Amino acid sequence: MFLPPRLSQITNENTITIMGKERAFLEIHRQEAGYRDLHDRIHDFGEVEQTLNTHERKAQASRCMDCGVPFCHWACPLGNKAPEWNEALYKGEWELAYKLLSATNPFPEFTGRVCPALCEKACVLNRYNHEPTTNRENECAITEGNFREGFIRPRTDIVRNGKHIAVIGAGPAGLAAANDLNIMGYQVSVYDKNEAAGGLLRYGIPNFKLNKAVIDRRIRLLEQEGIEFHYGKDITCDPSFASQFDAVVIATGTPTARDLTIPGRELKGVYLALELLAQQNRVLAGCEFTPEQRVTAKDKDVLVIGGGDTGSDCIGTAHRQGCKSVTQIEIMPRPVEGPEDPANPWPAFPRTLKTTSSHEEGCTRRWNINTLEFIGENGKLTGVKVQEIEWKPNPDGGRPLMVEKGKPEIIKAELVLLAMGFLKPQHPDFPDNVFVCGDAKNGASLVVRAMASGKQTAAEVNKYLSL
Ligand SMILES: Cc1cc2nc3c(=O)[nH]c(=O)nc-3n(C[C@H](O)[C@H](O)[C@H](O)COP(=O)(O)OP(=O)(O)OC[C@H]3O[C@@H](n4cnc5c(N)ncnc54)[C@H](O)[C@@H]3O)c2cc1C
Ligand code: SF4
Repeated sequence: MFLPPRLSQITNENTITIMGKERAFLEIHRQEAGYRDLHDRIHDFGEVEQTLNTHERKAQASRCMDCGVPFCHWACPLGNKAPEWNEALYKGEWELAYKLLSATNPFPEFTGRVCPALCEKACVLNRYNHEPTTNRENECAITEGNFREGFIRPRTDIVRNGKHIAVIGAGPAGLAAANDLNIMGYQVSVYDKNEAAGGLLRYGIPNFKLNKAVIDRRIRLLEQEGIEFHYGKDITCDPSFASQFDAVVIATGTPTARDLTIPGRELKGVYLALELLAQQNRVLAGCEFTPEQRVTAKDKDVLVIGGGDTGSDCIGTAHRQGCKSVTQIEIMPRPVEGPEDPANPWPAFPRTLKTTSSHEEGCTRRWNINTLEFIGENGKLTGVKVQEIEWKPNPDGGRPLMVEKGKPEIIKAELVLLAMGFLKPQHPDFPDNVFVCGDAKNGASLVVRAMASGKQTAAEVNKYLSL
């Protein structure tokens, strides 16, 4: 069969280069590395995701068909050049693959582990047969391979320009901004109120998704490249603070979680999701808590309120802490199942039912459930009164109407975790030399979006200081 040359096969010099392996996408199926065995993994907090061997990984990279219009590149907030680094990976050019990857993505070891891979949903192969390239895993493999071989070393070519920038918040947005500004030659000081860097990478996302040694390894590199980190510093960016620096970047995330102020909220046993998740990550880092302070699911029936990813992380954590049972409820309807979302078709991200490794570990999931009251005895939670509902079209247009269905019921629970999202922060008017990025600017989102926002802000700061 005649296959016409693809656009990217024709370079500026009019020579032909082949992207990926011809026809590999027709011959090789998508292969995910998968998770560790369920009965093994729920006894520890080690990363659940496995890795492919080098041969299989290169075969997966070869499936990228360089479709001419790379929707993956469009869908990735960082504009990652997946066709280019997939080709280098396929050819075994690991160092080149990392060079291409890190040209747009400062920390691919983070996104390679926790990104929902917007690129894969937009991959033309996803449209074709729902077997997109395994970009996220390939990204992780490229980065780990380069670390293993010692190819990722601190830069020694940074020329200082004498200007000093403060970054408040060491989450992915602040780290991405700090990294770019440092490379541009600014002296960068990062301040964080926590005892270590990473933001929600460290004190939100559980270790079974992201081992914290991965963050430490990157921070060591950034320190060696000249960025100064100051921990335990809760900074208010008032004019006096801002005046000490040429510019300030605020990357403080979304500190306020959405609460549920219904009767019984004061009972012992009702917590915000991050009270559990952050404490568990600290325990694994060696911090000690008294039995009074400890939030644990051990020997408890657990109810997670909120059907999203934070809720899913609570489920996996509850299993590892030795819970009796976990139920997850969500007020919205059950999403559509399968790879296609008629309301949000390819190449947009499908809002379909997601079953995570934590769900696989065991969980009752219910939708269209409203929470009415926390019930307890002697100040301690014993159950939650809930009400099944349905959503009816609003005759006046606008938001559908919530209508009760059947009678309220009680779900037995000694621990409730509220995982209902975060409030978008409001900021005062800042002086001209202050910039805001990441979740602090856009509201709760994703690591990849926070990093993209941090990079964009670094470019804006540089433009401002270059005027
Ligand atoms: C439980 C959970 C799981 C998640 N899982 C995923 C996932 O799997 N994949 C994904 O892509 N996204 C995930 N997210 C979302 C993702 O973690 C965030 O979108 C991302 O971390 C936002 O980055 P950021 O740098 O803007 O803010 P953050 O990560 O929140 O970092 C903000 C930093 O600012 C510091 N800070 C705040 N106020 C001050 C102050 N006044 N002075 C000094 N320091 C301050 C904080 O201590 C923190 O270190 C998850 C979120 C949660 C809560
Ligand atoms: S960062 Fe996420 S969206 Fe971008 S290429 Fe990597 S996995 Fe895909």
